Amino acid sequence: MPGLSHNERTLVILDRFDRPLRSLRVSVTDRCNLRCQYCMPEPDYAWLPRQSILDFEEIAVLVDAFASLGVDRVRLTGGEPLLRRDLTELVAQLAARPAVRDLALTTNGVLLASQAHGLRAAGLHRITVSLDTLDRERFQQIARFDELPAVLRGIDVAAAAGFASLKIDTVVIRHRNDDELSALLDFGKRYGAEVRFIEYMDVGGATKWSRDAVVSRREMLARLSEIYGSIEPVGGRDSAPAERFRLPDGTTFGIIASTTEPFCAACDRSRLTADGLWLLCLYARGGLDLRHPLREGATREELAHLISTVWSMRADRGAEERLGAPAREVLIPVAALKRNAHLEMHTRGG
Ligand code: SAM
Repeated sequence: MPGLSHNERTLVILDRFDRPLRSLRVSVTDRCNLRCQYCMPEPDYAWLPRQSILDFEEIAVLVDAFASLGVDRVRLTGGEPLLRRDLTELVAQLAARPAVRDLALTTNGVLLASQAHGLRAAGLHRITVSLDTLDRERFQQIARFDELPAVLRGIDVAAAAGFASLKIDTVVIRHRNDDELSALLDFGKRYGAEVRFIEYMDVGGATKWSRDAVVSRREMLARLSEIYGSIEPVGGRDSAPAERFRLPDGTTFGIIASTTEPFCAACDRSRLTADGLWLLCLYARGGLDLRHPLREGATREELAHLISTVWSMRADRGAEERLGAPAREVLIPVAALKRNAHLEMHTRGG
């Protein structure tokens, strides 16, 4: 039996603010087949060297080390994860681990139509598709590729593939797609997919970010209330980034308000880049390199020890610190991003 059984998982590691280490986002590639203006707006990028990209065995060993410390939710991401060759093999390996109780994937959906059934058959539980607009021309302006029809096909196929849940994530940007909130909710309803509206974040890579372009949670709720009437909160947010709401007709949706109302106190999430850098916060300037110890032969226990030592010292509250910054502008200048690809959102996996 690969991985750890439930009984082997004994530890809960808490950081300096008593936050447990529970969910891990694993980026499987830094490459992407879109160039969304809020994530990859530049004309060219520095990529991670190919030889540094972890293979599936290496990813599985690291996931086991995290699982031995209480991580039971794993989300595959990228770059665009569906660009990674034979991804279903990794999904099958991770899905076979009882300790991984929730295995999800975030995709832009471009390649989903041909892969959705294979991913489900390999054991993927949940899927989230990023979709910012239903208008083809706008899609092309935002993502800089004419791929809306492919994404819509992907959602159609995924909705029929039998995932435990299908979600749609929308980054809401003023004057770009903020007039489409209700159209996206209607679209999601048709597919039984909960929509989550994400505030535009000033993360590394968002070099066109401006405060004015952010549509806050408060503004989104006000606009939706004008259309639908009273909107009620749905309880039980726990550590999930989205706060959930219900429209009068029963439709539920989420808002991820990382920019204006961050939720660092409840954050149990960390990120592993495709080359094995472990980041404790989306806003962190650096992380712990796990690839070198792994390739030098560290055992799962040794890796777990390293991880737990670092997590127990964690004290970052990156999004809250950004909120408190006196002048909030682009976080990292282009020149610094070019020198260090690890600072980019598309390397970090979102
Ligand atoms: N390619 C996949 C996708 O599109 O879902 C996975 C990687 S992508 C970096 C993960 C998520 O990050 C997407 O939902 C994307 O919309 C979000 N994202 C990227 N830049 C963002 C920003 N500046 N503000 C808010 N969300 C952002």
